[in-house]
Amino acid sequence: MAAHQEKKPSEERKHKSTQNDTQTSQVQWGRAWEVDWFSLASILFLLLFAPLIVYYFIMSCDQYQCSLTDPLIDLLTGKKRLSDIWNKTPTLTYKAASIYTLWVTFQVFLYVFIPDFCHKFLPGYVGGVQAGAVTPAGVVNKYEINGLQAWIITHVLWFANAYYFRWFSPTIIFDNWIPLLWCANVLGYAVSTFAMIKSYFFPTNAKDCKFTGNFFYDYMMGIEFNPRIGKWFDFKLFFNGRPGIVAWTLINLSYAAKQQELYGQVTNSMVLVNVLQGIYVLDFFWNEAWYLKTIDICHDHFGWYLGWGDCVWLPYLYTLQGLYLVYHPVQLCTANAIGILMLGLIGYYIFRTTNHQKDLFRRTNGNCRIWGKKPEYIECSYMSVDGTKYYSKLMTSGFWGWARHFNYTGDLMGSLAYCLTCGFEHVLPYFYIVYMTILLTHRCIRDEHRCFSKYGKDWKRYTAAVPYRLIPGVF
Ligand code: NDP
Repeated sequence: MAAHQEKKPSEERKHKSTQNDTQTSQVQWGRAWEVDWFSLASILFLLLFAPLIVYYFIMSCDQYQCSLTDPLIDLLTGKKRLSDIWNKTPTLTYKAASIYTLWVTFQVFLYVFIPDFCHKFLPGYVGGVQAGAVTPAGVVNKYEINGLQAWIITHVLWFANAYYFRWFSPTIIFDNWIPLLWCANVLGYAVSTFAMIKSYFFPTNAKDCKFTGNFFYDYMMGIEFNPRIGKWFDFKLFFNGRPGIVAWTLINLSYAAKQQELYGQVTNSMVLVNVLQGIYVLDFFWNEAWYLKTIDICHDHFGWYLGWGDCVWLPYLYTLQGLYLVYHPVQLCTANAIGILMLGLIGYYIFRTTNHQKDLFRRTNGNCRIWGKKPEYIECSYMSVDGTKYYSKLMTSGFWGWARHFNYTGDLMGSLAYCLTCGFEHVLPYFYIVYMTILLTHRCIRDEHRCFSKYGKDWKRYTAAVPYRLIPGVF
């Protein structure tokens, strides 16, 4: 019987079902079980080239003033050999290894040993022990949400050092950027490899492991769903948020400090990058409990994609605008600066409001108001591995009635704003918007594939009610 025809007192109410009408979908709604050739080719490409792409971008700034074409031209015309570029690249240093080890250890300490106190005095903030979503095996994990606290403590120490203690220069990150890249790679590969080995020999929850039989796919996309060490050290929560996202704002501050050191001033474009990305980062930590319900935590397994991606890709490529502005200090005219600020803030508003609407809707089981009205929705059902039937709802009101992923649209507007701060002299700072467009479009398609496997015909009714993905009337 279709789920929407049954009367239910609460969302996600469940009952054991022997007459399992979505039996075929019950094992399907997590990550893919079978690997098609396109996925495999993409994975091999990323495993081989993603580290090189990161290196190429950072090297271009270090040796070619952020020009992406000049290194290629030099190589193609024989003016330089690969070895010339490589020999000019800073190597791993003892100093960088010490900084990185201290950094990661400090973040582990803040994550594991300091229970959240922010929720005790910050009104509206949800921290402390929180439950995650139901996994395909029917497990509900508990998480210690203390990211905001870790971010605040880290930044207070950063400013205390910059203005008072002066133990190290605030340009320390910029000054060691390439040696730190090697350290981040070591950690990224180590944690991904460890996660793979762990999933074979001591998985946290064997029922939530997925083995496709393809080594590369399993290494990249992960086998274990929620690998943990002990009760609280959750790999996904830790590596997704810290060290990468806590570092994001510090990296930008270090770039601003470098501009000050080199040019005696910080440009308004650098201020905009720091402010807009700072809002995004703070939003992430303020809403860390909500983050437990996002795709990264709810659906992705932990492999190289998350492990290496969080350690290397995110801190190095999400911060390219600030890095570029160190080499090219752009001073925007007031009108452009205001225009970019508005674009960034409106994008952020859409991103946050859309996410908030879904969160509120799911938390209250639809007993809330969206834009002053009771929300409309489509009822749906799905099965977990043990045959338990769950009920859920897909909202068709608010921004969720405009498009199926309007939160991504807001995110893309914000991303474009960061890039525009850099002007139009080089393409390097625009990598972020290109990457985010590919990432979020792919994510959208991936998520919809998963939702279709999970909800079956209920998902079809939803897509008929909300036909567009990102831009109403267009896509
Ligand atoms: P969403 O928050 O959009 O979550 C998608 C899930 O929400 C679906 O799988 C489904 O899960 C549920 N859902 C879908 N439609 C509805 C609906 N109409 N009503 C209620 N629930 C619905 O996606 P993400 O987790 O990918 O993204 C969260 C945010 O993070 C986004 O704003 C995105 O822009 C941002 N993001 C940023 C990234 C970055 O690198 N900067 C990377 C990725 C994301 P269920 O199974 O529960 O039904």
